[in-house]
Amino acid sequence: MSLQIENHPCFNDASRHKFGRIHLPVAPKCNIQCNYCNRKFDCMNENRPGVTSRILSPLQALHYLEQALVLSPNIAVVGIAGPGDPFANPDETMQTLRLVRAKYPEMLLCLATNGLELLPYIDELAELKVSHVTITINAIDPVIGAEVYAWVRYKKKIYRDVEAARVLIDNQLESLKKLKEAGITAKVNSIIIPGINDQHVITVASKVAELGADILNCLPYYSTTETVFENIEEPSLEMVAEIQNATSEYLPQMKHCARCRADAVGIIGELNNEEMMKKLAEAAALPKNPSDTRPYVAVSSMEGVLINQHLGEADRFLIYGFNHSNGDCILVDSRTAPPYGGGQERWKSLADTLHDCRALLVNGAGDSPTKVMKANGIEVMVLEGVIEEAVHGIFSGQDLKHLMKSSQIHACGSSCSGTGGGCG
Ligand code: SF4
Ligand code: SF4
Repeated sequence: MSLQIENHPCFNDASRHKFGRIHLPVAPKCNIQCNYCNRKFDCMNENRPGVTSRILSPLQALHYLEQALVLSPNIAVVGIAGPGDPFANPDETMQTLRLVRAKYPEMLLCLATNGLELLPYIDELAELKVSHVTITINAIDPVIGAEVYAWVRYKKKIYRDVEAARVLIDNQLESLKKLKEAGITAKVNSIIIPGINDQHVITVASKVAELGADILNCLPYYSTTETVFENIEEPSLEMVAEIQNATSEYLPQMKHCARCRADAVGIIGELNNEEMMKKLAEAAALPKNPSDTRPYVAVSSMEGVLINQHLGEADRFLIYGFNHSNGDCILVDSRTAPPYGGGQERWKSLADTLHDCRALLVNGAGDSPTKVMKANGIEVMVLEGVIEEAVHGIFSGQDLKHLMKSSQIHACGSSCSGTGGGCG
């Protein structure tokens, strides 16, 4: 059976009441800062891009998808749309796509990206039969783009102003061209921001049509607090209709986009249902690899109440389990740290000691032990605060950003999930 492209509810208006989509929130980091975006909030009632209640690892995402398909067998599309950018998290994104494709050969796969780092992945996306990619292009003139983007991080360098916009736009247009050469359906989103790019969207439409874009989605900008644009008024319905009308000269229009959350699931336009969100939370609470049955979390603490000891200084680790029926954290063991010295061998020996722990909570850690632990399936999380709160958060898949040491909060501003699936 071939992929049923006409079943895509975003690209085919006729199928949107019949088929659902699911966004797998595996991409927390972003590589640019749009002046209208704030990904700090995760209110379940907020329905806009960049918002998710949980972050999943690729294997957790596959597990969640399996559960979601039981509840909603009409899901025809699996997408990755943040909450950051899929290609600021390329390993997680590509692994998720590979896992889903291997398990569901007929599933439609799609992605929404800012396009900055899409280019190197297009060949593999085509091999994986990713059929639809959306690039958000708000400007093709770097001077206008400089108003929209605060910064762009590309190949480990931060760009600002016109230079930032130029780097982004060049990559977006190049990627769009290549997507079409690879036979992938390309949608362009353009956010209409009054006074910034509303006069310019028609030029964007003309350029992206020339490069082969299939459909255009002119979206009204959504006012979000604590952003540079928070005082800009949202465009009127008339302005949006006028721009859609003018740009329809160049491209077919998508007019039913619901500006979905990064964890949206179900029929477009309907709120996420509670049962499905329970499945999402359950998936986030599993070990990063759900088939890994590690029941414990290790903690480095001086007195047994706070996470307040550096990994290298600990002479013993407290081992906690969790009672899922009543939510209690249970101290089950105290294990002696391997003797000081010995370099890598010390950390390998520690990994053996903590072989049944999914995470190690410390107040500080060096790169070397962190890598060895990770290679052995133990996530090192640098936190500060009360042990019970952190352990409870990990086992129930909660966001632990508020417990992260400020030195661990990255420029991406992404929130980190309870299982350490956030900023990597
Ligand atoms: Fe936010 Fe998306 Fe812009 Fe990144 S690309 S800053 S996630 S709107
Ligand atoms: Fe479809 Fe728009 Fe929702 Fe993306 S944000 S899933 S394009 S309706």
